[in-house]
Amino acid sequence: MHIPSKLPDVGTTIFTVMSSLAVEHHAVNLGQGFPDFMMSEELIALVNEAMQKGSNQYAHMSGLPLLRERLAEKVQKLYQSKIDPETQITITPGGTYAIYTALTTILQPGDEVIVFEPAYDSYIPNIEINGAKPVLISLQYPDYSIPWDEVKMKVNERTRMIMINSPHNPTGAVLSENDIEQLRSIVAGTKIIILSDEVYEHLIFDGIQHQSILRYPDLLERSFVCFSFGKTYHCTGWKLGYCISTTAMMKEYRKVHQFNCFSCDTPKQVALAEYIKNEAAYLTLGSFIQQKRDFFRELMKATPFQCIPSHGSYFECYSYGHFTNESDKALAIQLTKEYGIATIPVSAFYKNATDNKVLRFCFAKKEETLEKAISKLVHLK
Ligand code: PMP
Ligand code: GLN
Repeated sequence: MHIPSKLPDVGTTIFTVMSSLAVEHHAVNLGQGFPDFMMSEELIALVNEAMQKGSNQYAHMSGLPLLRERLAEKVQKLYQSKIDPETQITITPGGTYAIYTALTTILQPGDEVIVFEPAYDSYIPNIEINGAKPVLISLQYPDYSIPWDEVKMKVNERTRMIMINSPHNPTGAVLSENDIEQLRSIVAGTKIIILSDEVYEHLIFDGIQHQSILRYPDLLERSFVCFSFGKTYHCTGWKLGYCISTTAMMKEYRKVHQFNCFSCDTPKQVALAEYIKNEAAYLTLGSFIQQKRDFFRELMKATPFQCIPSHGSYFECYSYGHFTNESDKALAIQLTKEYGIATIPVSAFYKNATDNKVLRFCFAKKEETLEKAISKLVHLK
């Protein structure tokens, strides 16, 4: 039976495409963003314990109360932000879902949403499926900073939302205090909502402070802020995250959430509520992942690729236009098939497939994995 597509321009996500190709060709997968090292044994043991003790039925619709309380304590300590765990936090099945739910809560047909490209690949389809219009602004190549003058020009009475993401996927760019100032001056006196994707909040390097929207009470008043436990605890397959907003906006958010997912995995929430007390687990994450970035960057010096420095996330981008004219998609496929290393072509993060001849590499891997990948890449001329 023919059904009209709600997303006629959308194919299969590049992460699945490249991971499947990596499996098919037995390539080292530096494409899709996930760690290949073990997560905490202690956290695994806590999940087992929760299951043994009988935490196997539905959790509260908004998330396990104790986990929300502990998250509120964490947010207070880290960002000096006072959040009511009863009304302002909802546990979600991952960051992607948290973002989708925020967009679905807010957007009406005809609304405009400002999106910076390259953009994480779920954003634009999430906007379009809600009948709204993405207004695209390219980050400035090669530092991928936000062109605020262009944002000012593109804001109008239809602008309903601005989406930000720091640390940024795919580029590893991070927002500064000045960026927050610019954002503040643009949204002041408007009905614009901010969607802040902060799934990489702890994966930030070089002593830079994460500019969470949670630091700024006046901005939080108009924001949904989305997080992922998968990124913080090396368990992307758990698909658990959360969203923080105002009481009023969260009330509407939960109306959508309760009839889509209702509640999330109970034993993992029980385990996280305990494990989250271990501050070192997330406070040392930035330096741990930074070491990986530095190790990877050093290895990459033996290849013809040129580094576009990352300051956060799991990723670093590299340009190659100086040695071949191939499209980034073609090169990513060739590297997977012929050199045994999978990457992500950055054009996949642009609606019109802008090709700056840049590939994204995930360095959140064991050193031996990175060494194996680069030992293949050095043969590229
Ligand atoms: N936003 C960005 C920028 C991401 O890179 C990811 C990565 N997966 C997500 C959101 C979604 O996180 P999750 O896996 O928890 O859905
Ligand atoms: N966030 C990860 C990435 O950017 C993967 C997410 C996914 O596969 N949907 O690679």
